[in-house]
Amino acid sequence: MSSNLLKHWGRSFAVRLTLGYAMIFTLSAVVLFGLLYVLLASALERKDREVIDARLKECAAVYASGGLPALRNLVKLNSTDESKSKSFFVRVTGNLGSVLFVDVPNDWLQADAASLQTQNGNERSEWLRIPKDEERDLTVASARLYDGAILQVGRSTNSRETVLQPFRRNFLLVMTPTLLLAVLGGAYFAHRATQPVREVVATARTISDTGDFSARVTAQMNRTELEELATEFNRLLDKNQSLIQGMRHALDNVAHDLRTPLTRLRGTAEAAVQTTPDPVAREALADCVEESDRVLTMLKALMDISEAEAGMMKLHRELTSIPALLRQVVEMYDLISEEKHITITTDFTPDCQASVDPTRLSQAFANLLDNALKYTPEGGQVHLACRAAENTVTVTIRDTGMGIPASDQPHIWDRLYRGDKSRTQRGLGLGLSLVKAIVEAHSGSVAVTSDAGQGAEFVITVPQILLAG
Ligand code: ADP
Repeated sequence: MSSNLLKHWGRSFAVRLTLGYAMIFTLSAVVLFGLLYVLLASALERKDREVIDARLKECAAVYASGGLPALRNLVKLNSTDESKSKSFFVRVTGNLGSVLFVDVPNDWLQADAASLQTQNGNERSEWLRIPKDEERDLTVASARLYDGAILQVGRSTNSRETVLQPFRRNFLLVMTPTLLLAVLGGAYFAHRATQPVREVVATARTISDTGDFSARVTAQMNRTELEELATEFNRLLDKNQSLIQGMRHALDNVAHDLRTPLTRLRGTAEAAVQTTPDPVAREALADCVEESDRVLTMLKALMDISEAEAGMMKLHRELTSIPALLRQVVEMYDLISEEKHITITTDFTPDCQASVDPTRLSQAFANLLDNALKYTPEGGQVHLACRAAENTVTVTIRDTGMGIPASDQPHIWDRLYRGDKSRTQRGLGLGLSLVKAIVEAHSGSVAVTSDAGQGAEFVITVPQILLAG
Protein backbone atom coordinates (compact mmCIF):
# COMPACT_ATOMS: atom_id res chain seq x y z
CA MET A 1 0.00 0.00 0.00
CA SER A 2 2.82 2.35 0.94
CA SER A 3 4.54 1.65 -2.41
CA ASN A 4 1.25 2.51 -4.16
CA LEU A 5 1.10 5.73 -2.20
CA LEU A 6 4.68 6.51 -3.20
CA LYS A 7 3.85 5.79 -6.85
CA HIS A 8 0.83 8.08 -6.61
CA TRP A 9 3.01 10.78 -5.06
CA GLY A 10 5.63 10.34 -7.75
CA ARG A 11 2.98 10.90 -10.42
CA SER A 12 1.35 13.81 -8.61
CA PHE A 13 1.71 17.09 -10.47
CA ALA A 14 1.65 19.03 -7.17
CA VAL A 15 4.49 16.96 -5.71
CA ARG A 16 6.58 17.43 -8.85
CA LEU A 17 5.88 21.15 -8.77
CA THR A 18 6.91 21.27 -5.10
CA LEU A 19 10.14 19.37 -5.73
CA GLY A 20 10.97 21.47 -8.79
CA TYR A 21 10.32 24.67 -6.87
CA ALA A 22 12.36 23.45 -3.87
CA MET A 23 15.22 22.43 -6.15
CA ILE A 24 15.36 25.79 -7.94
CA PHE A 25 15.03 27.68 -4.67
CA THR A 26 17.83 25.64 -3.04
CA LEU A 27 20.04 25.85 -6.10
CA SER A 28 19.60 29.64 -6.20
CA ALA A 29 20.45 29.85 -2.50
CA VAL A 30 23.61 27.74 -3.02
CA VAL A 31 24.68 29.81 -6.04
CA LEU A 32 24.05 33.05 -4.14
CA PHE A 33 25.96 31.75 -1.15
CA GLY A 34 28.87 30.59 -3.34
CA LEU A 35 29.01 33.91 -5.20
CA LEU A 36 29.04 35.85 -1.93
CA TYR A 37 31.78 33.60 -0.63
CA VAL A 38 33.97 34.07 -3.71
CA LEU A 39 33.42 37.85 -3.72
CA LEU A 40 34.20 38.14 -0.03
CA ALA A 41 37.29 35.91 -0.29
CA SER A 42 38.68 37.82 -3.27
CA ALA A 43 37.96 41.20 -1.64
CA LEU A 44 39.83 40.12 1.48
CA GLU A 45 42.74 38.78 -0.58
CA ARG A 46 42.93 41.99 -2.62
CA LYS A 47 43.02 44.02 0.57
CA ASP A 48 45.82 41.86 2.01
CA ARG A 49 47.83 42.12 -1.19
CA GLU A 50 47.42 45.89 -1.34
CA VAL A 51 48.87 46.24 2.14
CA ILE A 52 51.80 43.89 1.39
CA ASP A 53 52.42 45.54 -1.97
CA ALA A 54 52.55 49.00 -0.39
CA ARG A 55 55.10 47.73 2.17
CA LEU A 56 57.12 46.04 -0.56
CA LYS A 57 57.27 49.27 -2.55
CA GLU A 58 58.20 51.25 0.55
CA CYS A 59 61.02 48.84 1.43
CA ALA A 60 62.29 48.76 -2.19
CA ALA A 61 62.34 52.60 -2.32
CA VAL A 62 64.21 52.85 0.97
CA TYR A 63 66.70 50.18 -0.19
CA ALA A 64 67.21 52.04 -3.44
CA SER A 65 67.94 55.30 -1.66
CA GLY A 66 69.96 54.14 1.34
CA GLY A 67 70.83 50.50 0.84
CA LEU A 68 70.60 47.78 3.45
CA PRO A 69 71.29 50.10 6.47
CA ALA A 70 68.41 52.34 5.49
CA LEU A 71 66.11 49.31 5.16
CA ARG A 72 67.26 48.01 8.54
CA ASN A 73 66.45 51.45 10.02
CA LEU A 74 63.03 51.48 8.49
CA VAL A 75 62.22 48.05 9.89
CA LYS A 76 63.55 49.02 13.31
CA LEU A 77 61.61 52.29 13.20
CA ASN A 78 58.42 50.48 12.37
CA SER A 79 58.88 47.96 15.12
CA THR A 80 58.52 50.79 17.62
CA ASP A 81 55.22 51.71 16.01
CA GLU A 82 52.74 49.52 17.90
CA SER A 83 50.27 49.18 15.10
CA LYS A 84 52.81 47.92 12.56
CA SER A 85 54.94 46.09 15.11
CA LYS A 86 56.53 43.03 13.67
CA SER A 87 53.55 42.48 11.43
CA PHE A 88 55.66 42.16 8.26
CA PHE A 89 58.24 39.61 7.28
CA VAL A 90 61.09 41.31 5.42
CA ARG A 91 64.00 39.47 3.84
CA VAL A 92 66.73 40.53 1.44
CA THR A 93 68.59 37.75 -0.34
CA GLY A 94 71.79 38.42 -2.20
CA ASN A 95 72.70 37.33 -5.70
CA LEU A 96 74.28 34.12 -4.52
CA GLY A 97 71.36 33.16 -2.34
CA SER A 98 72.84 34.36 0.96
CA VAL A 99 70.44 36.09 3.30
CA LEU A 100 71.58 39.72 3.74
CA PHE A 101 68.79 40.83 6.02
CA VAL A 102 65.76 39.17 7.63
CA ASP A 103 63.13 40.31 10.05
CA VAL A 104 60.57 37.73 11.16
CA PRO A 105 57.31 38.84 12.84
CA ASN A 106 56.22 37.40 16.18
CA ASP A 107 53.43 35.30 14.73
CA TRP A 108 55.79 33.60 12.28
CA LEU A 109 57.84 30.57 13.19
CA GLN A 110 61.49 30.63 12.25
CA ALA A 111 60.81 27.50 10.27
CA ASP A 112 58.25 29.36 8.14
CA ALA A 113 60.89 31.87 7.16
CA ALA A 114 63.56 29.27 6.58
CA SER A 115 61.34 27.18 4.34
CA LEU A 116 60.46 30.17 2.19
CA GLN A 117 62.08 29.87 -1.19
CA THR A 118 63.67 32.78 -2.97
CA GLN A 119 61.51 32.86 -6.00
CA ASN A 120 61.85 35.90 -8.11
CA GLY A 121 63.43 35.29 -11.48
CA ASN A 122 62.52 38.57 -13.12
CA GLU A 123 61.91 42.22 -12.37
CA ARG A 124 58.26 42.02 -11.61
CA SER A 125 56.91 41.17 -8.18
CA GLU A 126 55.68 37.65 -7.50
CA TRP A 127 53.11 36.36 -5.07
CA LEU A 128 53.31 33.31 -2.91
CA ARG A 129 50.58 32.07 -0.64
CA ILE A 130 51.39 29.46 1.96
CA PRO A 131 48.37 28.11 3.80
CA LYS A 132 50.09 26.50 6.81
CA ASP A 133 47.23 25.41 9.03
CA GLU A 134 43.90 26.69 10.36
CA GLU A 135 45.53 29.51 12.23
CA ARG A 136 48.35 30.52 9.92
CA ASP A 137 48.07 31.55 6.33
CA LEU A 138 51.07 33.44 4.97
CA THR A 139 51.27 35.63 1.89
CA VAL A 140 54.63 36.77 0.56
CA ALA A 141 55.43 39.15 -2.30
CA SER A 142 58.89 39.33 -3.80
CA ALA A 143 60.61 41.75 -6.17
CA ARG A 144 64.10 42.00 -7.62
CA LEU A 145 65.94 45.07 -6.40
CA TYR A 146 68.07 47.35 -8.60
CA ASP A 147 71.29 45.55 -7.57
CA GLY A 148 69.95 42.07 -8.31
CA ALA A 149 69.15 41.21 -4.70
CA ILE A 150 65.67 39.85 -3.97
CA LEU A 151 63.38 41.59 -1.52
CA GLN A 152 60.59 39.54 0.07
CA VAL A 153 57.83 41.09 2.13
CA GLY A 154 55.22 38.85 3.76
CA ARG A 155 52.43 38.87 6.23
CA SER A 156 50.12 36.52 8.07
CA THR A 157 46.81 36.65 6.29
CA ASN A 158 44.85 34.44 8.65
CA SER A 159 42.41 37.29 9.36
CA ARG A 160 40.86 36.27 6.04
CA GLU A 161 40.26 32.78 7.39
CA THR A 162 38.80 34.24 10.56
CA VAL A 163 36.07 35.79 8.42
CA LEU A 164 35.64 33.02 5.86
CA GLN A 165 35.68 30.02 8.16
CA PRO A 166 32.43 30.83 10.07
CA PHE A 167 30.92 31.71 6.72
CA ARG A 168 31.67 28.18 5.49
CA ARG A 169 30.76 26.52 8.76
CA ASN A 170 27.36 28.22 8.88
CA PHE A 171 26.52 27.20 5.35
CA LEU A 172 24.72 23.98 6.38
CA LEU A 173 23.11 25.72 9.31
CA VAL A 174 21.60 28.28 6.94
CA MET A 175 20.79 25.77 4.20
CA THR A 176 18.70 23.43 6.37
CA PRO A 177 15.96 25.97 7.16
CA THR A 178 16.27 27.31 3.61
CA LEU A 179 15.55 23.86 2.21
CA LEU A 180 12.70 23.36 4.65
CA LEU A 181 11.26 26.73 3.69
CA ALA A 182 11.63 25.83 0.00
CA VAL A 183 9.77 22.53 0.41
CA LEU A 184 7.01 23.96 2.61
CA GLY A 185 6.61 27.07 0.45
CA GLY A 186 6.65 24.94 -2.68
CA ALA A 187 4.07 22.54 -1.26
CA TYR A 188 1.79 25.42 -0.25
CA PHE A 189 1.92 27.14 -3.63
CA ALA A 190 1.66 23.89 -5.61
CA HIS A 191 -1.32 22.79 -3.52
CA ARG A 192 -3.06 26.11 -4.04
CA ALA A 193 -2.27 26.26 -7.75
CA THR A 194 -3.51 22.73 -8.45
CA GLN A 195 -6.71 23.04 -6.37
CA PRO A 196 -8.93 23.73 -9.45
CA VAL A 197 -7.43 20.71 -11.24
CA ARG A 198 -8.23 18.50 -8.27
CA GLU A 199 -11.77 19.85 -8.22
CA VAL A 200 -12.20 19.20 -11.95
CA VAL A 201 -10.95 15.62 -11.48
CA ALA A 202 -13.25 15.07 -8.47
CA THR A 203 -16.24 16.43 -10.35
CA ALA A 204 -15.52 14.33 -13.45
CA ARG A 205 -15.14 11.28 -11.19
CA THR A 206 -18.45 11.97 -9.42
CA ILE A 207 -20.21 12.27 -12.76
CA SER A 208 -18.76 9.05 -14.16
CA ASP A 209 -19.24 7.11 -10.90
CA THR A 210 -22.74 8.23 -10.01
CA GLY A 211 -24.07 9.49 -13.34
CA ASP A 212 -25.05 12.72 -11.55
CA PHE A 213 -24.73 15.34 -14.29
CA SER A 214 -25.60 18.16 -11.92
CA ALA A 215 -22.20 17.92 -10.14
CA ARG A 216 -20.10 21.08 -10.63
CA VAL A 217 -16.67 22.43 -9.71
CA THR A 218 -17.02 24.68 -6.68
CA ALA A 219 -13.59 26.43 -6.68
CA GLN A 220 -13.46 30.24 -6.77
CA MET A 221 -13.40 31.23 -10.39
CA ASN A 222 -11.86 33.76 -12.79
CA ARG A 223 -8.50 34.26 -11.19
CA THR A 224 -5.88 31.98 -12.68
CA GLU A 225 -5.64 29.94 -15.88
CA LEU A 226 -6.43 26.76 -13.98
CA GLU A 227 -9.51 28.32 -12.46
CA GLU A 228 -10.52 29.38 -15.94
CA LEU A 229 -10.20 25.72 -16.90
CA ALA A 230 -12.61 24.87 -14.07
CA THR A 231 -15.05 27.55 -15.27
CA GLU A 232 -14.94 26.23 -18.82
CA PHE A 233 -15.36 22.69 -17.51
CA ASN A 234 -18.51 23.79 -15.65
CA ARG A 235 -19.84 25.48 -18.78
CA LEU A 236 -19.21 22.30 -20.73
CA LEU A 237 -21.13 20.33 -18.11
CA ASP A 238 -24.00 22.83 -18.23
CA LYS A 239 -24.18 22.42 -21.99
CA ASN A 240 -23.96 18.66 -21.68
CA GLN A 241 -26.72 18.56 -19.13
CA SER A 242 -29.04 20.77 -21.14
CA LEU A 243 -28.38 18.60 -24.20
CA ILE A 244 -29.25 15.48 -22.23
CA GLN A 245 -32.39 17.12 -20.90
CA GLY A 246 -33.26 18.24 -24.41
CA MET A 247 -32.83 14.68 -25.66
CA ARG A 248 -35.04 13.37 -22.88
CA HIS A 249 -37.76 15.87 -23.69
CA ALA A 250 -37.48 15.04 -27.38
CA LEU A 251 -37.75 11.34 -26.54
CA ASP A 252 -40.79 11.97 -24.32
CA ASN A 253 -42.44 14.06 -27.02
CA VAL A 254 -41.72 11.51 -29.73
CA ALA A 255 -43.11 8.74 -27.53
CA HIS A 256 -46.20 10.80 -26.82
CA ASP A 257 -46.76 11.84 -30.42
CA LEU A 258 -46.14 8.39 -31.90
CA ARG A 259 -48.54 6.62 -29.64
CA THR A 260 -51.80 7.77 -31.20
CA PRO A 261 -50.92 7.16 -34.89
CA LEU A 262 -49.33 3.83 -33.97
CA THR A 263 -52.42 2.74 -32.02
CA ARG A 264 -54.54 3.74 -35.01
CA LEU A 265 -52.23 1.82 -37.35
CA ARG A 266 -52.43 -1.22 -35.13
CA GLY A 267 -56.25 -0.96 -35.00
CA THR A 268 -56.47 -0.73 -38.78
CA ALA A 269 -54.12 -3.69 -39.25
CA GLU A 270 -56.06 -5.75 -36.71
CA ALA A 271 -59.38 -4.97 -38.41
CA ALA A 272 -57.87 -5.84 -41.80
CA VAL A 273 -56.60 -9.20 -40.50
CA GLN A 274 -60.20 -10.23 -39.88
CA THR A 275 -61.46 -9.22 -43.32
CA THR A 276 -58.58 -9.95 -45.71
CA PRO A 277 -59.09 -13.25 -47.59
CA ASP A 278 -55.49 -13.42 -48.87
CA PRO A 279 -53.48 -15.56 -46.38
CA VAL A 280 -50.13 -13.89 -47.26
CA ALA A 281 -51.55 -10.42 -46.66
CA ARG A 282 -53.17 -11.69 -43.46
CA GLU A 283 -49.86 -12.95 -42.15
CA ALA A 284 -48.16 -9.68 -43.00
CA LEU A 285 -50.89 -7.74 -41.23
CA ALA A 286 -50.61 -10.01 -38.18
CA ASP A 287 -46.87 -9.27 -38.12
CA CYS A 288 -47.70 -5.57 -38.25
CA VAL A 289 -49.98 -5.94 -35.25
CA GLU A 290 -47.30 -7.83 -33.33
CA GLU A 291 -44.54 -5.31 -34.11
CA SER A 292 -46.88 -2.41 -33.31
CA ASP A 293 -47.53 -4.01 -29.92
CA ARG A 294 -43.80 -4.14 -29.22
CA VAL A 295 -43.26 -0.52 -30.19
CA LEU A 296 -46.34 0.53 -28.19
CA THR A 297 -44.95 -1.28 -25.12
CA MET A 298 -41.71 0.59 -25.52
CA LEU A 299 -43.47 3.94 -25.93
CA LYS A 300 -45.60 3.18 -22.92
CA ALA A 301 -42.49 2.38 -20.86
CA LEU A 302 -40.85 5.65 -21.95
CA MET A 303 -43.92 7.62 -20.98
CA ASP A 304 -44.25 5.79 -17.67
CA ILE A 305 -40.64 6.57 -16.82
CA SER A 306 -40.91 10.27 -17.58
CA GLU A 307 -44.23 10.41 -15.74
CA ALA A 308 -42.74 8.73 -12.66
CA GLU A 309 -39.58 10.87 -12.79
CA ALA A 310 -41.75 13.99 -12.89
CA GLY A 311 -43.65 12.68 -9.85
CA MET A 312 -46.84 12.32 -11.87
CA MET A 313 -47.24 8.54 -11.84
CA LYS A 314 -50.69 7.70 -10.49
CA LEU A 315 -50.57 4.80 -8.06
CA HIS A 316 -53.61 2.77 -7.07
CA ARG A 317 -52.40 1.65 -3.68
CA GLU A 318 -53.93 -1.25 -1.84
CA LEU A 319 -52.68 -3.49 0.93
CA THR A 320 -50.97 -6.22 -1.06
CA SER A 321 -49.24 -9.47 -0.22
CA ILE A 322 -45.85 -9.04 -1.85
CA PRO A 323 -45.14 -12.83 -1.89
CA ALA A 324 -48.40 -13.36 -3.78
CA LEU A 325 -47.32 -10.75 -6.34
CA LEU A 326 -43.94 -12.38 -6.67
CA ARG A 327 -45.50 -15.83 -7.14
CA GLN A 328 -47.66 -14.50 -9.99
CA VAL A 329 -44.59 -13.04 -11.66
CA VAL A 330 -42.64 -16.30 -11.24
CA GLU A 331 -45.55 -18.16 -12.79
CA MET A 332 -45.46 -15.83 -15.79
CA TYR A 333 -41.83 -16.79 -16.38
CA ASP A 334 -42.21 -20.53 -15.73
CA LEU A 335 -41.98 -21.37 -19.39
CA ILE A 336 -38.84 -19.33 -20.04
CA SER A 337 -37.06 -20.68 -16.97
CA GLU A 338 -37.92 -24.22 -17.97
CA GLU A 339 -36.64 -23.62 -21.49
CA LYS A 340 -33.31 -22.34 -20.15
CA HIS A 341 -33.15 -24.95 -17.38
CA ILE A 342 -32.85 -22.23 -14.80
CA THR A 343 -34.01 -23.12 -11.31
CA ILE A 344 -36.03 -20.44 -9.54
CA THR A 345 -36.05 -20.75 -5.75
CA THR A 346 -38.05 -18.57 -3.37
CA ASP A 347 -37.89 -17.67 0.29
CA PHE A 348 -40.81 -15.51 1.43
CA THR A 349 -41.91 -14.65 4.96
CA PRO A 350 -45.69 -14.37 5.36
CA ASP A 351 -45.70 -10.91 6.99
CA CYS A 352 -44.57 -9.19 3.76
CA GLN A 353 -47.52 -6.91 3.18
CA ALA A 354 -47.38 -3.38 1.92
CA SER A 355 -49.61 -0.65 0.63
CA VAL A 356 -48.55 -0.57 -3.04
CA ASP A 357 -49.90 -0.40 -6.57
CA PRO A 358 -49.87 -4.15 -7.37
CA THR A 359 -49.89 -3.67 -11.13
CA ARG A 360 -46.99 -1.26 -11.12
CA LEU A 361 -44.93 -3.16 -8.59
CA SER A 362 -45.38 -6.50 -10.37
CA GLN A 363 -44.24 -4.71 -13.52
CA ALA A 364 -41.00 -3.82 -11.67
CA PHE A 365 -40.59 -7.38 -10.33
CA ALA A 366 -41.25 -8.78 -13.79
CA ASN A 367 -38.54 -6.58 -15.31
CA LEU A 368 -36.00 -7.71 -12.72
CA LEU A 369 -36.89 -11.39 -13.12
CA ASP A 370 -36.86 -11.01 -16.89
CA ASN A 371 -33.32 -9.59 -16.70
CA ALA A 372 -32.20 -12.29 -14.26
CA LEU A 373 -33.36 -15.02 -16.65
CA LYS A 374 -32.06 -13.18 -19.69
CA TYR A 375 -28.53 -12.61 -18.36
CA THR A 376 -28.13 -16.03 -16.67
CA PRO A 377 -26.82 -18.85 -18.83
CA GLU A 378 -28.56 -22.21 -19.09
CA GLY A 379 -28.46 -24.31 -15.94
CA GLY A 380 -28.13 -21.27 -13.67
CA GLN A 381 -30.15 -20.29 -10.65
CA VAL A 382 -32.37 -17.40 -9.68
CA HIS A 383 -33.38 -16.81 -6.10
CA LEU A 384 -36.20 -14.55 -4.92
CA ALA A 385 -36.58 -13.53 -1.29
CA CYS A 386 -38.96 -11.26 0.59
CA ARG A 387 -38.52 -9.96 4.16
CA ALA A 388 -40.33 -7.42 6.30
CA ALA A 389 -38.46 -5.36 8.88
CA GLU A 390 -38.78 -1.93 10.45
CA ASN A 391 -41.90 -1.01 8.49
CA THR A 392 -40.33 -1.84 5.16
CA VAL A 393 -40.53 -4.78 2.81
CA THR A 394 -37.32 -5.88 1.12
CA VAL A 395 -37.39 -7.98 -2.03
CA THR A 396 -34.17 -9.55 -3.27
CA ILE A 397 -33.71 -11.04 -6.75
CA ARG A 398 -30.37 -12.79 -7.11
CA ASP A 399 -29.02 -14.65 -10.12
CA THR A 400 -25.90 -16.62 -11.02
CA GLY A 401 -25.47 -14.95 -14.40
CA MET A 402 -22.84 -12.78 -16.06
CA GLY A 403 -23.00 -10.01 -13.46
CA ILE A 404 -22.54 -6.29 -14.06
CA PRO A 405 -19.07 -4.67 -14.24
CA ALA A 406 -18.54 -1.97 -11.58
CA SER A 407 -18.05 0.66 -14.29
CA ASP A 408 -21.54 -0.10 -15.72
CA GLN A 409 -23.39 -0.11 -12.42
CA PRO A 410 -24.00 3.67 -12.08
CA HIS A 411 -25.41 3.79 -15.62
CA ILE A 412 -27.74 0.79 -15.79
CA TRP A 413 -30.55 2.93 -14.38
CA ASP A 414 -30.32 5.42 -17.26
CA ARG A 415 -32.86 5.32 -20.03
CA LEU A 416 -31.75 3.36 -23.11
CA TYR A 417 -28.50 2.27 -21.44
CA ARG A 418 -27.37 -1.24 -22.29
CA GLY A 419 -24.25 -3.00 -21.11
CA ASP A 420 -21.74 -3.88 -23.85
CA LYS A 421 -22.12 -7.61 -23.27
CA SER A 422 -25.91 -7.39 -23.24
CA ARG A 423 -26.29 -6.25 -26.80
CA THR A 424 -26.65 -9.81 -28.06
CA GLN A 425 -29.81 -10.16 -25.93
CA ARG A 426 -33.21 -8.68 -26.77
CA GLY A 427 -34.00 -5.47 -24.93
CA LEU A 428 -34.22 -1.71 -25.18
CA GLY A 429 -32.37 -0.53 -22.09
CA LEU A 430 -35.58 0.74 -20.51
CA GLY A 431 -36.33 -2.06 -17.99
CA LEU A 432 -34.24 -0.85 -15.07
CA SER A 433 -35.14 2.82 -15.56
CA LEU A 434 -38.77 1.80 -15.28
CA VAL A 435 -38.05 -0.33 -12.18
CA LYS A 436 -36.31 2.63 -10.53
CA ALA A 437 -39.07 5.05 -11.51
CA ILE A 438 -41.83 2.75 -10.15
CA VAL A 439 -39.99 1.98 -6.90
CA GLU A 440 -39.18 5.63 -6.27
CA ALA A 441 -42.81 6.55 -6.99
CA HIS A 442 -43.57 4.19 -4.07
CA SER A 443 -41.05 6.16 -1.93
CA GLY A 444 -38.79 3.13 -2.00
CA SER A 445 -35.30 2.45 -3.28
CA VAL A 446 -33.55 -0.06 -5.49
CA ALA A 447 -29.87 -1.03 -5.46
CA VAL A 448 -27.59 -3.53 -7.13
CA THR A 449 -24.56 -5.43 -5.91
CA SER A 450 -22.63 -7.41 -8.45
CA ASP A 451 -19.21 -8.51 -9.61
CA ALA A 452 -18.66 -9.22 -13.28
CA GLY A 453 -19.07 -12.96 -13.88
CA GLN A 454 -20.38 -13.55 -10.37
CA GLY A 455 -24.10 -12.89 -10.81
CA ALA A 456 -26.13 -9.88 -9.73
CA GLU A 457 -28.34 -9.09 -6.76
CA PHE A 458 -31.07 -6.46 -6.99
CA VAL A 459 -32.69 -5.30 -3.76
CA ILE A 460 -35.94 -3.36 -3.71
CA THR A 461 -37.10 -1.74 -0.50
CA VAL A 462 -40.57 -0.18 -0.14
CA PRO A 463 -42.31 1.19 2.95
CA GLN A 464 -45.11 -1.08 4.21
CA ILE A 465 -47.47 1.79 4.80
CA LEU A 466 -46.95 5.21 3.36
CA LEU A 467 -47.07 7.69 6.21
CA ALA A 468 -48.78 10.97 5.50
CA GLY A 469 -46.41 13.85 4.64
P1 ADP B 1 -32.03 -4.26 -21.18
O1 ADP B 1 -33.17 -4.11 -22.08
O2 ADP B 1 -30.71 -4.10 -21.86
O3 ADP B 1 -32.11 -5.48 -20.32
P2 ADP B 1 -32.30 -2.86 -18.66
O4 ADP B 1 -32.57 -1.42 -18.36
O5 ADP B 1 -33.22 -3.85 -18.11
O6 ADP B 1 -32.13 -2.97 -20.22
O7 ADP B 1 -30.83 -3.17 -18.12
C1 ADP B 1 -29.77 -2.31 -18.41
C2 ADP B 1 -28.45 -3.08 -18.45
O8 ADP B 1 -28.18 -3.58 -17.15
C3 ADP B 1 -28.51 -4.31 -19.32
O9 ADP B 1 -28.19 -3.98 -20.67
C4 ADP B 1 -27.45 -5.20 -18.69
O10 ADP B 1 -26.18 -4.84 -19.18
C5 ADP B 1 -27.52 -4.84 -17.24
N1 ADP B 1 -28.28 -5.81 -16.42
C6 ADP B 1 -29.51 -5.65 -15.90
N2 ADP B 1 -29.87 -6.73 -15.17
C7 ADP B 1 -28.84 -7.58 -15.22
C8 ADP B 1 -28.58 -8.89 -14.65
N3 ADP B 1 -29.48 -9.51 -13.89
N4 ADP B 1 -27.39 -9.47 -14.91
C9 ADP B 1 -26.47 -8.86 -15.67
N5 ADP B 1 -26.65 -7.64 -16.24
C10 ADP B 1 -27.80 -7.00 -16.00
